[in-house]
Amino acid sequence: MPSRISRKKKVSGTRLPVIECSCGAQILLVPNVKEMSAAIEAHIIIHTKKIKDAKEAQAKAERIRDDLIAKVLETASEL
Ligand SMILES: [Zn+2]
Repeated sequence: MPSRISRKKKVSGTRLPVIECSCGAQILLVPNVKEMSAAIEAHIIIHTKKIKDAKEAQAKAERIRDDLIAKVLETASEL
């Protein structure tokens, strides 16, 4: 990745849109599908890494993913 991406100046008072997981963790909402899904998948791992059973882990991952995606859509529609 070339490092010539211009840094956006921080605008004070602007609330960054975040979605909150059922565990209380906040995930920043980004206007980029790849980055958003990467952030969601990275968070799902936090939930599933402790689960030993593969099927259970997959079911948990699906629940978290559906929940987070629903929140992304909900939050995005409010922007
Ligand atoms: Zn969580």
